[in-house]
Amino acid sequence: MKLPIYAYGHPILKRVATPVQANDQKFKAFLDDMWETMYNASGVGLAAPQVGSSHRVFIVDTVQIMKEEENQKGIKEVFINPEMIEETGNEYGYEEGCLSIPDIRADVSRQSRIKLTYLDENFEEQTAEFDGVNARVIQHEYDHLEGVLFVEKINPLKRNILRRKLDKIRKGKVNVDYPMQFV
Ligand code: ZN
Repeated sequence: MKLPIYAYGHPILKRVATPVQANDQKFKAFLDDMWETMYNASGVGLAAPQVGSSHRVFIVDTVQIMKEEENQKGIKEVFINPEMIEETGNEYGYEEGCLSIPDIRADVSRQSRIKLTYLDENFEEQTAEFDGVNARVIQHEYDHLEGVLFVEKINPLKRNILRRKLDKIRKGKVNVDYPMQFV
């Protein structure tokens, strides 16, 4: 089932999410809904708060965007109750977007390598390192669980320029081809 994606301005996006407790049928069905919702909106990542559930889980599929010439492998994974252990490497700017903030893209500076622990979709504990686009998407989604949006991390001047566009999204004045939930 496709879920509506909560738009910029909705308070759930500013909340710190709480840990997932139960690995039950209801949660499995929720994950299926998340995948369907993300693909329907042509996303590469989606965090539970973006579909109105303030829990610590996000999904990532970068396989869709990795081209063969890049010597990187995409990942398709579920991250449950992730904990960022370290972020290392040089900071670099990379253009990000967000399904909750349609039609806005901006450079965000983040470190290049991360290490985190999480439960995978079978609720097995994993510790893994990621870099490149994989790290970038995970960092963006992880921020959602902390109530942080990428537009809060961009250069203040650029953010000012985007303010009118952001206000329009907040008010629901935006054309998107996927279902959205506004305040
Ligand atoms: Zn996002």
